[in-house]
Amino acid sequence: MLTALLAGTLALGVGYLLGSGFLRNRWGRRPVLPPVGDSPGTMLDWVVRASGATGCWVQLGDDLPIVSEGVAANDSETDAAMRGRLTTLLLDPADREGVERVDGDRGVMAFVLRPPRGVVLLLSSDAGADRALADAEHLLQLLTTRSTLEKVDRRANGDGESLESAAIRLAHQVERISQSDVVVALRVATGIEIVGVSLRGDQRLVHSRVTPGSALDQVARGEVGGSIMSYNPTGFEARADRREPTGRAVVEPLRDDGTTIGALAYWPEYGVELTGSPAGALSQALANAGPRLRHALERREEREAATRDPLTGLRNRRGFAATFAEVTVGQGALIYADLDHFKKLNDALGHAAGDAALVHFASILGDLVRGRDIAARIGGEEFAIWIPRGNAKRGMVVADRVRQALARREWHWQGHPWAMSASFGVAAWPDHTASRENLETLADEALYRAKREGRNRVCAANPPVGEGAPVAAGPAE
Ligand code: GH3
Ligand code: MG
Ligand code: MG
Repeated sequence: MLTALLAGTLALGVGYLLGSGFLRNRWGRRPVLPPVGDSPGTMLDWVVRASGATGCWVQLGDDLPIVSEGVAANDSETDAAMRGRLTTLLLDPADREGVERVDGDRGVMAFVLRPPRGVVLLLSSDAGADRALADAEHLLQLLTTRSTLEKVDRRANGDGESLESAAIRLAHQVERISQSDVVVALRVATGIEIVGVSLRGDQRLVHSRVTPGSALDQVARGEVGGSIMSYNPTGFEARADRREPTGRAVVEPLRDDGTTIGALAYWPEYGVELTGSPAGALSQALANAGPRLRHALERREEREAATRDPLTGLRNRRGFAATFAEVTVGQGALIYADLDHFKKLNDALGHAAGDAALVHFASILGDLVRGRDIAARIGGEEFAIWIPRGNAKRGMVVADRVRQALARREWHWQGHPWAMSASFGVAAWPDHTASRENLETLADEALYRAKREGRNRVCAANPPVGEGAPVAAGPAE
């Protein structure tokens, strides 16, 4: 599988590399690219030689082993150290790329992270670090392109094109036309959902809802007639771990049969709208994609009716259980949340207010739980968050972020503020238990401890008897 992937990537990559100026950059001559169809190590070997590294380590996905190449990769101690470091960096990526000294006088490493993927190059000194970073980034981009398209193809099943596939293909087309990042968003029951980003974009944005009132929101709702310009089309706050395109974006409506169904943002060079034949290609791509996106969205809605909670748009208990059952990675954090004194709110303000409060909490989850992490409403006022690959500390941090956001963002009913809070229980695998089957019970116990200890707090699980000492929760950020 990896062989096929790397070979295919080469096929796709050669043209890309030649077109991108990668081989003609300011660092002079590069080793010649290996022929298409060569062994899996060839691509990595080429990167090692091109960047003057002593070794290269690549993680392509949760369920794949780290692959490595180079002299340092044959030194088992260094190999273990680098694998460990790459795994740690991917678990809690503070930066998307960087250079750091490696313990034990092993040299300097340049890393590029696009969770769940990452590349590390080991260098003997920091002299070539900039070049290595650029090489690592290009390698990752090629591998990502390939595996994203493969994944999308796998998911596009017999009954038509999947929404993900339609969206990513449009994003990819417009990325090539505009030479920029692209975000595709569609109108769904709970707002304007990002359904695809271009391959160089931040994949973690997919499934988030854009901020109400943002340019994408306005255009996707049909509140403005045509395209508009915006410096922040999603309305998201800047985050250190996310690479945002800079400059001014153009936001274009997506239509099917005259009805606005969504919007697309791209960031043209110099912030100026496309003209001439690229502009023609763009409107053609948008016009073609409209009906396909709408059809794919309708199919998804039919399919998800049984697994979505209609009030909040989150997964329901059944949807959450199904996702949880598919877990293959051997690590993750489960958070249970239950709103505090919710009966009081219902009794004082009425059931409709209770429902609005649930939507308020769900929208906080929608903002804070993104990308591969999953939020669900698993009961009346009970919610769950699953963080694949998350550890206990990460679970505690995420839970506390949600807790604080709920305290900070005032909720109003008929003009009057009502203070809401929630209690959280966190259980991580394998930190708290060797068996994933125990996670739900452990998170539940931790949640009830949070309630008993006074509510509006986060508690970590106690490992089952015989499974060792509790894991220190670590300070919240
Ligand atoms: P605690 O802090 O101990 O959690 O107190 P609580 O009042 O929240 O108690 P509990 O969790 O036992 O009660 C949940 C209440 O939430 C019961 C019900 O009135 C309300 N509730 C459950 N589902 C819904 C819903 O879909 N809509 C509304 N409006 N209320 C709901
Ligand atoms: Mg409850
Ligand atoms: Mg409650």
